[in-house]
Amino acid sequence: MATATRRSIELAERHAAHNYHPLPVVVARARGCWVWDADGRRYLDMLSAYSALNQGHRHPAIIRALRAQAGRVTLTSRAFHNDRLGPFCRTLCRLSRMDRVLLMNTGAEAVETAIKCARKWGYKRRGVPEGEAEVVVFENNFHGRTTTIVGFSSEAQYRDGFGPFTPGFRLVPYGDLEAARRAVGPRTVAVLVEPVQGEAGIVIPPRGFLRGLRALCDEAGALLVADEIQTGFGRTGRLFACEHEGVRPDVLVVGKALGGGVLPVSGVLASDEVMGVFTPGDHGSTFGGNPLACAVGEAAVEALVKGRMVQNSARQGAWFLKRLAAIPSPHVKEVRGLGLFIGVEIRVSSGTARPYCERLMEKGLLCKETHHQVIRFAPPLIITRRELEWAMSRIEPVLLEGV
Ligand SMILES: *Cc1c(COP(=O)(O)O)cnc(C)c1O
Repeated sequence: MATATRRSIELAERHAAHNYHPLPVVVARARGCWVWDADGRRYLDMLSAYSALNQGHRHPAIIRALRAQAGRVTLTSRAFHNDRLGPFCRTLCRLSRMDRVLLMNTGAEAVETAIKCARKWGYKRRGVPEGEAEVVVFENNFHGRTTTIVGFSSEAQYRDGFGPFTPGFRLVPYGDLEAARRAVGPRTVAVLVEPVQGEAGIVIPPRGFLRGLRALCDEAGALLVADEIQTGFGRTGRLFACEHEGVRPDVLVVGKALGGGVLPVSGVLASDEVMGVFTPGDHGSTFGGNPLACAVGEAAVEALVKGRMVQNSARQGAWFLKRLAAIPSPHVKEVRGLGLFIGVEIRVSSGTARPYCERLMEKGLLCKETHHQVIRFAPPLIITRRELEWAMSRIEPVLLEGV
């Protein structure tokens, strides 16, 4: 291992908490789809910070907005108005065809906000008895790492040692509409769903699942809450993944790429009626809606639209998926994806996905295993055909030969 890389890793190993198991690469510089390590080696970034870098690293317009706003005002708290909040909220509402947005910072905070919103809506508007609201969630979900959220995870490691947990969640198998129907009752205030499960290994639900949940929520008078933190902003080849089934959620949760790879920016979007349950003092965040985040978020959304990144995701994703699926590898169990959100599942008999990611790293391509067996390919949405061809020339031999 080269000197600068080894030194950085040693320092982090000694002083940083060991809550991650990163690949042994130290990123020191980045631009577009590419990063350079501390010793000057170049890699293609095919993870995009779990889709927080849909616009690529250091998109010029986003960095310009960051610099310009940093020269004016960065933080006001919501005790005062700031001149960037209104314009950004209007942009987000127009884009998602929602009435109102509540801005937070991280994805987990936005999910927590959506849960609070749905519960209060259930008590105040639906007349659910106080303290009895239920939210239906799905097995193998990933919605973040707060104690409430990991409390309804089905992943043992996410929960182990962190209880006691918040009650009021019902877990059903993902993609199983009948199970969801059985779980929904008079106390159900919301169904919380990822339109495609990312952390679970790029799991695409059966056709009609989201539409079925929409109908189920309409019948039961419950809110359909879509967590599009990872799938949103073009990742799956549509602006929002729910559009693949023509479904409009009642509550839309966004984050990651909303911050343009620069700052944590998240939000919850809903109708006037639903968002109306929040009154001053009910909920808040010191940094949520700060002017720097608003300026960056607005530039991030604008870059996505102007750069036709959603269309590029659909076009390049379809090509890349086809090419990956055509590799006659004895080690691959399945290739699946939507847009530039692609999973390659390694057969258990060929080991886990981790050594495949390590081998790809040695060949100049960064990606990360998810759920043990799946290599996730989710490059920035600005990626070109030539860059994908370069990636294929690395991936194909690794998948064919195995590790
Ligand atoms: C990443 C993610 C979250 C959590 O976002 P953080 O910013 O890490 O808190 C929630 N839901 C989904 C679907 C995610 O991918």
